[in-house]
Amino acid sequence: MLNNYKRLLSVLLISAMFMGCASLSAQTDRDDYRQQAIEILESVPLFDGHNDVPWQYRNRVGYKFSELDFYDTTHLDPPMHTDIPRLREGRVGAQWWSVYVSANISEPEAVKQTMEQIDFVHRLVERYPDHFELALTADDVERVFADGKIASLIGMEGGHSINNSLAVLRMFYELGARYMTITHGRTLDWADAAGDDPQHDGLTEFGEEVIREMNRLGMLVDLSHVTPATMRDAIRVSEAPVMFSHSNALALSGHPRNVPDDVLELTAENGGIVMVTFVETFTSEERRQHFAERAAYQRKMEYLNPGIPDVVRDKMRAWDEENEAPKSTLEQVADHIDHIRDLIGAEYIGIGGDYDGISTLPLGLEDVSTYPDLFAELLRRGYTEDEIRKIAGLNMLRVMRGAEEVSDRLRSVREPSEILITDFE
Ligand SMILES: [Zn+2]
Repeated sequence: MLNNYKRLLSVLLISAMFMGCASLSAQTDRDDYRQQAIEILESVPLFDGHNDVPWQYRNRVGYKFSELDFYDTTHLDPPMHTDIPRLREGRVGAQWWSVYVSANISEPEAVKQTMEQIDFVHRLVERYPDHFELALTADDVERVFADGKIASLIGMEGGHSINNSLAVLRMFYELGARYMTITHGRTLDWADAAGDDPQHDGLTEFGEEVIREMNRLGMLVDLSHVTPATMRDAIRVSEAPVMFSHSNALALSGHPRNVPDDVLELTAENGGIVMVTFVETFTSEERRQHFAERAAYQRKMEYLNPGIPDVVRDKMRAWDEENEAPKSTLEQVADHIDHIRDLIGAEYIGIGGDYDGISTLPLGLEDVSTYPDLFAELLRRGYTEDEIRKIAGLNMLRVMRGAEEVSDRLRSVREPSEILITDFE
């Protein structure tokens, strides 16, 4: 009996040692592929779908470059994830800069604040002309990348920014916006958001008209943040390829704004792209569950202790001490890429880190300098160089070109939409 027990103990010990070695050797193996990854990223633009630097500049310094130089944002408290040297180290070749404003402000105010965000991107490329240039088309992206600069594109995060007006949508296109996320966290008059109560079972009739007008303009339809019903409606209506600028697979993490398998299949039929994101609760199911349990406990404490926030705060502090949040990892992000590739192929995958839009990141992907490590991990897992090139940038370029061709065709046969839901007095 004792002998059996000893044998079991030594088996457990040896396997524990092996597991430690396995994760260490995964890291070493990955390092072997890093140089290969860098060489690939120097041949195609690494195209990231979502970065919130404009929002950081708004909140930290009121958009003043004189107070915050984009050459170094590491000394800040807390540090930013993005600056010029680290973008270069990460081999970023094309960046969708998110021009995000809160969905909880009034929509006329959102129009103004979105213009301030867009103005920031224009000022960014003017201030650092050796590193950035505005890109409005796929051809622009390739030309700017060939010049050794980072192609800078503008993506609007949320249909609240157009205040129910296709005229405002058209003017944002004129200002350079080339994608619009249909909603952020709030359900609109015309589209359901994943972070809110659904009201329309997807898109309303006006919501479908927004998609058609975006197709005609050549502005990409971004389906991150919306409900699966809105995703399905938008893909059914859209004649152009759609995108998810920062989303993961629902099969691996049950966050309501991740993409279900049937929508992944629809996205492949549509010729679109899912840009896999580094948001921790979208990446790790364990971490998502941890925060869901925490929120439930907090609701319970608030119910049991009405009007005594100090007690609730103490209870939550004790809960946090007892329940450490599990971290997500670079490997788990690669697992999402594996899942999508297994289901629909590498042709429909991109990367949308959401750097500077979130406060914590997976282990191994701490800032924009780490992209080559993710591609090294994919090489280690047996992805071909051809697949890496597609995931890094060629897929996004194909989606942009697809939308540009649809726009060229529609502009020759269709007038600008005259449908409005704005009330005129
Ligand atoms: Zn977002």
